[in-house]
Amino acid sequence: MQPEEFARYRDAARAIAAILSSSNRIVLTTHVRPDGDALGSVLGLGNALSAVGKQPRLILPSPIPASLGFLPGSSALEVYDASKHDAFIATADAIVCLDFNVLDRLDAMASAVAASPAVRLLVDHHLEPAPGFHAMLWDTEVASTAELVFALLLLEFPGAFSAAVATPLYTGILTDTGNFRFPRTTARTHRIVAALIEYGADPVAIAEALYDQNSPARLRLLGQVLRQLELHCDGACVLLQLRRKDVLDAGAREDETEGFVQHTLTVAGARVGVFISELLDGSDGVKVSLRSKGTFDVARIAEELGGGGHRNAAGAVVRGISLEAARQRVLAMIEAALHAE
Ligand code: 5GP
Ligand code: MN
Repeated sequence: MQPEEFARYRDAARAIAAILSSSNRIVLTTHVRPDGDALGSVLGLGNALSAVGKQPRLILPSPIPASLGFLPGSSALEVYDASKHDAFIATADAIVCLDFNVLDRLDAMASAVAASPAVRLLVDHHLEPAPGFHAMLWDTEVASTAELVFALLLLEFPGAFSAAVATPLYTGILTDTGNFRFPRTTARTHRIVAALIEYGADPVAIAEALYDQNSPARLRLLGQVLRQLELHCDGACVLLQLRRKDVLDAGAREDETEGFVQHTLTVAGARVGVFISELLDGSDGVKVSLRSKGTFDVARIAEELGGGGHRNAAGAVVRGISLEAARQRVLAMIEAALHAE
């Protein structure tokens, strides 16, 4: 893979590398409820920095999903605890924010990061980063943050690649492209993936670790959810919903509902998919996940609900609302947007 492919990232990569190279106390972090790209990006960069002699702390605002525990280096991930981490964050030299761009996606960890005098760096592919980052490797045209981490390493730390770096980055790309199916999957994405395989990522082992680990409880819960599938807007909108009680009845864990939303767009003719779940921690409210095909913009709808995301994948947490009220509200918004086309 030629570094020239990443020529337009050169200045940003150089600025970030210079800061990291001169920093001793480095924090890497990502958004709450981390997915494959979030954790893959943190671990890919974290393992690479370790290889060049740094000892970054990988501090995350929420627990690591068991399904991603296979990623090399994941035992070094720490779940934020103010009493354990605030002192380090307050005296860090650099904090790298990966796969998110507004500090409130750090939940309880946000205030400590906002208050820290550390240099703040961004590596991300979401729209509209908040101000306040000293250097940004930011491109909304790439499907995954992991591709940007790959570019940063190829341009600035090419000696750091190993299977321990390639495996998380491959995982980030695989999951954020929906297994190479989503629109921003490009020839360059595949060239990056080819390089990662050469560095030691094992496609068979990674796919098995990601996709062939269902518990019977998860599949039964999915069955229950799929049985209640609803079609709206002449079949253009497919809706799935989940009650907390169903999760408890099935004996499934909270994180086992990850990915249910993907089934919505597999219905022929579906252009918008909605998955609404009661908050599984028992607090009052719902999580809304939105997916779309083509030009239908679900980020706008998520933003109106107080969340955000990309045109074809977005989400929001809406507090203090019942599942039924959220369902009506979201459906009305989608109906209006489809009518306005
Ligand atoms: P998911 O539906 O898988 O949770 O999220 C899909 C995408 O929507 C994520 O990659 C993220 O960009 C965005 N997203 C999900 N939940 C939130 C949220 O609560 N706030 C914001 N700003 N974005 C979200
Ligand atoms: Mn991502």
